[in-house]
Amino acid sequence: MRFKIAILSSCLLTFLVSCESDKVPMKSYKTQYVFVLIMDGARYTETWGDANHSYIPRLSNDMAQFGVINTNFSNNGYTHTTAGHTAIMTGHYQSINNTGGEFPSSPSFMQIWRCFKGQEASNAWVIASKDKLEVLSNTKDLRWKNKFRPLVNCGINGNGTGYRDDSTTSVRVMEVLETYSPHLMIVNFKEPDYSGHQANWVNYLNGIQSSDEYIYRVWNFIQTSPIYKDKTTLFVTNDHGRHPDGTADGFVSHGDGCSGCRHIMFYAFGPDFKQDVVISQPRELIDINATILELLGISGVYSDGEVMRELFQ
Ligand SMILES: [Zn+2]
Ligand SMILES: [Zn+2]
Repeated sequence: MRFKIAILSSCLLTFLVSCESDKVPMKSYKTQYVFVLIMDGARYTETWGDANHSYIPRLSNDMAQFGVINTNFSNNGYTHTTAGHTAIMTGHYQSINNTGGEFPSSPSFMQIWRCFKGQEASNAWVIASKDKLEVLSNTKDLRWKNKFRPLVNCGINGNGTGYRDDSTTSVRVMEVLETYSPHLMIVNFKEPDYSGHQANWVNYLNGIQSSDEYIYRVWNFIQTSPIYKDKTTLFVTNDHGRHPDGTADGFVSHGDGCSGCRHIMFYAFGPDFKQDVVISQPRELIDINATILELLGISGVYSDGEVMRELFQ
């Protein structure tokens, strides 16, 4: 208990200036829980850009009518995995080492929320098929480094131990939901990126569809949970796309500023958002961060993104 008070007061002392200058009362929302689910490296042409939505049947048939789809959503930063996830977590685009060798330059919305709301670590989770994404739980910013970190469950056994199957990640996600009822969670499914890099078109498509199913499991859990129902906001997106056919090696790779690498899927669902709406306002990864901070009642000074007001009822 004494330890907790010390932590809390150090948070308030460290950030007194920003707290003091933040006099505008924040609007309060129904949202108490926020999950971000990331399907790694799907092209828009195989998600919402495919008229039949052949590979995302759950999102298209079971979830779309309850949420908002944005057809004009982008990664406008570096189109690599760690960079894309970092943009969502911190609200800043950053050229970051893509092999798990570098922490983000800025604190994540999870660290900020834990600090300002006095929350336990077990209320925030980073769960990823890719071990390297464990770096999302920390920052290089010395005011925040090693403080207010979320709990992690990444790769085979943490950073440096290799990727694991998305089926395992899905099981871990459901276990964490059942055991800890976390308020904040970011999840990485390594497919379809993993099979794309192996130039395996069939497995790439299968990877989109399996991720779609794992995403639906979370959505369905929310809808049938007395804890989460009508209190949980969900974002579904990609960290980056891939080259279009005819550009470089097409679906096999990504990482530049081409339209295929930038244009990604976006779906949002929650008690404060509209339902059954498709919008085309230009938005980008860092705007997810700003919108999460808004929902959590935290000033947007920590994010370069903009709150996506058009999502709200
Ligand atoms: Zn990726
Ligand atoms: Zn490209």
